Amino acid sequence: MTTVIDGNEIADRIRADVSDCAARLSEEGVNPGLATVLMSDDGASETYVSMKQRACEETGIRGIHQELDPDEPAEVLLNRIDELNDDPTVHGILVQMPVPDHVDSRAVLERIDPAKDVDGFHPENVGRLVAGDARFKPCTPHGVQKLLESAGVDPEGKDAVVVGRSDIVGKPMANLLIQKTAGGNATTTVCHSRTDDLAAKTREADLVVAAAGVPEMITGDMLSEGCTVVDVGVNRVDADTEKGYELVGDVEFESAKGKADAITPVPGGVGPMTIAMLMYNTVKAASLQSGVDVNL
Ligand code: NDP
Repeated sequence: MTTVIDGNEIADRIRADVSDCAARLSEEGVNPGLATVLMSDDGASETYVSMKQRACEETGIRGIHQELDPDEPAEVLLNRIDELNDDPTVHGILVQMPVPDHVDSRAVLERIDPAKDVDGFHPENVGRLVAGDARFKPCTPHGVQKLLESAGVDPEGKDAVVVGRSDIVGKPMANLLIQKTAGGNATTTVCHSRTDDLAAKTREADLVVAAAGVPEMITGDMLSEGCTVVDVGVNRVDADTEKGYELVGDVEFESAKGKADAITPVPGGVGPMTIAMLMYNTVKAASLQSGVDVNL
C-alpha cells in the first residue's frame, strides 16, 4: 500500500505548534510581525501574498501588508525595505517575487536585514545554510524535510535525486539533504535541464524530489519500486473545470503511486508546508531578535 503523505494535516500540526510559540512570545511582550511587500499586478503573486497574510492571522502573527505600484523606481522598494529593517515591531520581511524587470531582484534580497530574512534567500543566510549553521532554512525545502520526518522517511544513507537547481527550491533542498544532521545524510544528486538521461538517475533513487516546473514529467517508469516521491511542482494545465485549468505537479501521480511506497499529492502536499514554514521562520526570527527562547 502506498502512503499518500497528507501535507495539509502535517502543516496544520506545525502551524498549531508555531501558534503556541507565538502566544508564548506575546506573553513576554513580543508580538511576532511579518511584513509582506508586493510590487506586482500579477494575480498569482497577489494570491500567494494574501494566503501568507491569512496564515499570519490564523497563527497569531501580526501581518503588515504593503503594496507598491509596479511602475515605481527600484529606490522606492529599497527605501521601504530600509524602513522595515529599522522597525523593531517587524521581525520578518518578505518581498513577493517576481519583482518588475526594472528592479534588480538580487539587490532587493541583499537589502533585507539577514536577521529578518525569513525566506532565507539573503547571501548571508544562504552561506550559513551551506555551512551547516542555518538561521532560516528556505521554506519550501524545509517543508519537504518536515514532511519526510512526519512520514517516517529518514533520508540518511539513501540515494536522493533532486530534479531542479533553482535558488529557492532545488539548491537549498540538495543542501539540506547532504547536511550531517537529522533530515540529511543522503547521497544526493542534483539534476536539471542539461542532465543527460534523467530517467537513469531517478530510477536509481530511493528518494526523488521533483522541482522542475514541468507538468507530470516524472512518470512511474522513471522510478524504482518502493521509493519516496516528493512533488514540489505546481503547474496550471488547461482542463474542463470552472476555472478552465487544474493544478498538477511535476509527477504523474497515478503511475508514480504504482511504484512508490510514499508520495505527496498536488495540491495538498508540499504547498501547505511552505506557508507553515514561513510562519515558523517568522516566530523564530521574533524569538532570536527578542532573546525570548521558545524552542523552535
Ligand atoms: P525554476 O523554474 O526556477 O527552476 C526549475 C528547475 O528545473 C531548473 O533548475 C531547471 O533546469 C529544471 N528543469 C526544467 N526543466 C527540466 C527538465 N525537463 N528536466 C530536468 N530539469 C528541468 O522553478 P522553481 O524552483 O522556482 O519551482 C519549481 C516548481 O516548484 C514550479 O512548478 C513551482 O511552481 C513549484 N514551487 C512550488 C512551491 C510550493 O510551495 N509547493 C514553492 C516554490 C516553487 P535549469 O537550471 O537547467 O534551467
